[in-house]
Amino acid sequence: MLVGMNMLSTKGVLLVNQLRDLLFPPSCLFCHAPMPSGNGCCTLCLETIEVWPHSTCSRCGIPLPAEMHPGPCGRCLQKPPAQCHTCSLYCYHGAVRDAILEWKLQGHDAAVRWLVNAAMPGIRSQINEGSLLLPVPMPISRMRKSGQHHAANFCKWLADDTGCTWDWHLLRRIGEQPRQSALSGQARRKNLRKAFALADDYGSRWQDLAGQATSIWIVDDILTTGSTLHFAARASLKLGVPINVLSLARTSQKH
Ligand SMILES: [Zn+2]
Ligand SMILES: [Zn+2]
Repeated sequence: MLVGMNMLSTKGVLLVNQLRDLLFPPSCLFCHAPMPSGNGCCTLCLETIEVWPHSTCSRCGIPLPAEMHPGPCGRCLQKPPAQCHTCSLYCYHGAVRDAILEWKLQGHDAAVRWLVNAAMPGIRSQINEGSLLLPVPMPISRMRKSGQHHAANFCKWLADDTGCTWDWHLLRRIGEQPRQSALSGQARRKNLRKAFALADDYGSRWQDLAGQATSIWIVDDILTTGSTLHFAARASLKLGVPINVLSLARTSQKH
């Protein structure tokens, strides 16, 4: 009887799925074109998704020839960033860029979440229950305007999957700075030099978190020149532990 009911319920689910596909044909989460099956990403979009290379300078994350991996690269030998390790998931172009823009400008996160889920096996090898994630803080005015804190959302998705801890109060943004995307590399660095600080009560907050955390990751959605993550990491060095950084995507522009 139980087997019969299971078969019935399986048939029922299939019927419901067929009906749903008839009424709401599956579409690509990235370009929204209709698709024959519902795995979320059409072939054309999939071809444009590029994972950030694995052979990189471990310190700053720029791609390196395999024989030079894990670096440090020439630039890190001369002027290393504040963080000890940089990891990015995707190259910021094609369907990845479209998905991030749709998330940031229109609030639709389905395609970005597909990208995060696809990267989870690799993420789990670096981030676990002992990791503490700190999203790069946004200026308050921009957070009010968009109603979203994208780096914090990204941290939450990672925490839900890996069981790590995240805290968006420990690292703070100070004052208001113009949008980074409108500035040149040199202007970005000047703009960001004093943009981050640990919260006034960071000592007690850190005491509460330090017992659980064996690694700290500063997390952002897009890494462009690396200045934002460098200065956010520099402000976090007071915690007295090595700082890692993670971005969902990275532009190929060198810093
Ligand atoms: Zn597509
Ligand atoms: Zn480097």
